[in-house]
Amino acid sequence: MGLVSALMTDSMTELSAQDERLLRRSIEVSASAVANGNMPFGAIMADPDGNVLLEAENTGITGRNDLNHAETVLMNMAVTTLTPEQIATATLYTSCEPCAMCAGAMYWGGLNRMVYGMSEIDLLEITSADPDDQNMRGVGCRNIFDTGQRYIEVSGPHLVEEASAVHIAFWAAGGPQDPTLELSPHDEALLRRAIDVATRSVANGNLPFGALLADPDGNVLLEAENSDITGKSTLNHAETNLMRLAVSNLTAEQIATATLYTSCEPCAMCSGSMYWGGLNRMVYGMSEHHLLEITGAHHLNPTMRGVGCRNVLHSGQRRIEVSGPHLIEEASQIHHHYWGTHT
Ligand SMILES: [Zn+2]
Ligand SMILES: [Zn+2]
Repeated sequence: MGLVSALMTDSMTELSAQDERLLRRSIEVSASAVANGNMPFGAIMADPDGNVLLEAENTGITGRNDLNHAETVLMNMAVTTLTPEQIATATLYTSCEPCAMCAGAMYWGGLNRMVYGMSEIDLLEITSADPDDQNMRGVGCRNIFDTGQRYIEVSGPHLVEEASAVHIAFWAAGGPQDPTLELSPHDEALLRRAIDVATRSVANGNLPFGALLADPDGNVLLEAENSDITGKSTLNHAETNLMRLAVSNLTAEQIATATLYTSCEPCAMCSGSMYWGGLNRMVYGMSEHHLLEITGAHHLNPTMRGVGCRNVLHSGQRRIEVSGPHLIEEASQIHHHYWGTHT
């Protein structure tokens, strides 16, 4: 078999109806991963008759382990629950071309056939626009398999549009979220109230930012407006003001069990205040990147390009739950008005 025909059988084969159905199933699993608070990757393993043997979602976020790629999770399940014969005759379907680690897991786990959706390069194109992007540029999964001591049949990319749609939607919705992806009505009402505090801050002569702290029953403990202008300090961000109030007026227990709601994603200073003040849960409205788009280099608020509040809050020594962005349109409304009319 010449190179061209080898390529024909490998990458460019038409998917059988059975393969297509099962690959589509892995894409559904990738969407389910997002619904469960993880990254949009899914993989399944099926026997030669097309019966699904195992399914696995990415569990990197909820499992707090960045090695929990869907395919590696699946291969770990396979080697502990299936016989070598079952794995050797099975096909693995994955929504996205496996990375080097996952391709290696397939090789070492004894798999002989794999079908994938979008390519690693397709994925990189989607994720590279995001500052949190950590995707490998990739050597291509075939290059990994080709270095092994047995032939592994690979087919892909396939159903690229369907597979990418999950990723595009995921990043458009703000990327990785904590499991509390949907706001509870209770959270939503309190976040809306923080946006009202931002409006009041402007009425009181300051910048359009507001934050509040609520107990687990949703009772408001403290509120804070921005006071940069009237307080003559550019450090008087709403969230830092709030955390200063909290540490001097509340008990450590009250702060530890409270949720902070802020109209806009906190900057590095404010995120640090939350960490050092003992907060464990935070919900925010619009993102810092979105704010930057609106303020530009405005002298009253030269918004930082930002590392993302999660990168600050998740770099600490305890887990802080973060949820956002939410209510983006409501939260950004005042900014669209304010920054154009104040010089
Ligand atoms: Zn991987
Ligand atoms: Zn701040």
